[in-house]
Amino acid sequence: MPKGYYPRTDYHRKRISQGAIKYNFKGNRNPNWKGGAHSHCSYRLIYIPNHPFADCQGYVREHRLIMERQLNRFLNPREVVHHINKNRKDNRIENLILFSNEAEHQRHHSFFRKRNINNKQFLKINLAQP
Ligand SMILES: [Zn+2]
Repeated sequence: MPKGYYPRTDYHRKRISQGAIKYNFKGNRNPNWKGGAHSHCSYRLIYIPNHPFADCQGYVREHRLIMERQLNRFLNPREVVHHINKNRKDNRIENLILFSNEAEHQRHHSFFRKRNINNKQFLKINLAQP
């Protein structure tokens, strides 16, 4: 028998077709789709099944882990970690801001929209405040 070959039982066929269904329902055809903005698709996920806030598949978003390491505590699930340069793969600590909840996070986003300023200007304003 060649390496890696095994007969496809009914069980395997079923597993494969279930996987195919999952795949086809990715993105905006998925009933769980929440509208695109801040979707989780482009975040880097780290497999830590025994993390208290891992998702059902055992993954934790890397930027949250980095913030947790920085704060030396677990993040509350309501807390939101925002990427300053909007690049969700740029998980350097200086690119991350922690908000205590989604409302504050959204306030930050509308702050940018209203004033039409960029990140550098925002940081200057923020650093100027005591
Ligand atoms: Zn954000």
